[in-house]
Amino acid sequence: MAVIIEPFRIKSVEPLFVKTPEERKQILKEAHYNPFLIPARDVLIDLLTDSGTSAMSAAQWAGVMSGDESYAGSESFFHFEAAVKEIVGMPFIIPTHQGRAAEKILFSIIGGKGKYILSNTLFDTTRANIEYTGAEGVDLLCNEGMDPALIAPFKGNMDIKKLEDFIAKTGAQNIPLCIVTVTNNSGGGQPVSMDNIKKVKDVCHRHGILFYLDACRFAENCYFIQKREPGYANKSVLKIAQEMFSYADGCTMSAKKDAFANIGGFLAMHNPELAQQCRNLLVITEGFPTYGGLAGRDLEAIAIGLKEVVDENYLQYRIRSIEYLAEKLTAAGVPVMQPAGGHAVYLDAKAMLPHIPVNQYPGQALVAELYLQGGVRGVEIGSLMFGKYDANMNLIPAMMELVRLAIPRRVYTQSHIDYVAEVIIEVYNKRDKIKGLEITYESLALRHFTAHLKPFEE
Ligand SMILES: *Cc1c(COP(=O)(O)O)cnc(C)c1O
Repeated sequence: MAVIIEPFRIKSVEPLFVKTPEERKQILKEAHYNPFLIPARDVLIDLLTDSGTSAMSAAQWAGVMSGDESYAGSESFFHFEAAVKEIVGMPFIIPTHQGRAAEKILFSIIGGKGKYILSNTLFDTTRANIEYTGAEGVDLLCNEGMDPALIAPFKGNMDIKKLEDFIAKTGAQNIPLCIVTVTNNSGGGQPVSMDNIKKVKDVCHRHGILFYLDACRFAENCYFIQKREPGYANKSVLKIAQEMFSYADGCTMSAKKDAFANIGGFLAMHNPELAQQCRNLLVITEGFPTYGGLAGRDLEAIAIGLKEVVDENYLQYRIRSIEYLAEKLTAAGVPVMQPAGGHAVYLDAKAMLPHIPVNQYPGQALVAELYLQGGVRGVEIGSLMFGKYDANMNLIPAMMELVRLAIPRRVYTQSHIDYVAEVIIEVYNKRDKIKGLEITYESLALRHFTAHLKPFEE
């Protein structure tokens, strides 16, 4: 059978609300051309993020009902701890309310002025938490990962030569930690190979640098390893994940991604002293170490989600459904990051809108147009998200100008995805008429969440 069906059926539904094009025009204007400021009710197909937007399973909802809400030592914590340990094989498991809370705790201890944290590509909150401590985040992605049109199996890999050179130049004593993002969210959801993980680990350990994983999409990454990396075709995704984590000194995770939970995250590690320091901070900012900012029911949902996500029928459907959208767009000539990522399709706005200069944010202009055309909400991953200013306030643009269409897990059906493809192709066919945007308000950190923009005027 060529058709891969959704490996679930629907027992509970939510309505969608359709707006007219005129209404959407007004809504977009009121939202200052920033999709984060559009009320969700006014969005038809919401591809803003795959974070916290998963449909939970019947088993997870049952877990929610049986969550143990004891303050200390709840049953649900032990279920959570066991489920995480089975995958990561690390002795210290610290629950947090989100991935960024785990980052905040880790980098408050590890970071600081004069230090460098290395990565393939840091996610935006990860970078922000690093920079907030005065440390600097450094992306050392392989060159393949920077070419959106290039087809290669592991475009999320870290560049080993760049890593060695950076350590030689900067001095290992100034580099406390290297964190590899699997899959590489900000770099197109591209996977990292096991071979690359091993090599990065070897380099780090040779220099006494801690090696961590940003594990938000570990299962999607491991499925790609199974399908693409020699020697893994006959290993289960769980076994592959266990091997991957065996190379790491620790990890941060947002349970809002591959754990199918609506909230939650964790830190896990081998080092007992560091774990103790993290727990000390956890108690101040998140909560007691057996709940860390989560209700018992959330811990229960995560524990069950972590078991469901390594199901290979699910992963086959998941990866195929993203690929399906990318194939439709590619066939119509739309420039799409190749190959399709694990959780999202990334439109190459720079290639699609060459007439809009980077300081008029072509990615954001495309995001606005997708909403106007069909009520589809995506997010810019380009110079609005990652751009900086030089001393003269000229924009230092991001590496790429992408629009991410993240697909929530188990939420939309194939006909929803067919509709999204139609909307994008209609926008593509009138791309010459799309105009740039300019910023009218921005905050100091993570400006893309709250920025106001308007159509660019000469
Ligand atoms: C979502 C995400 C985070 C942060 O997790 P939150 O739960 O949103 O705080 C960190 N890293 C990556 C790669 C992510 O995708």
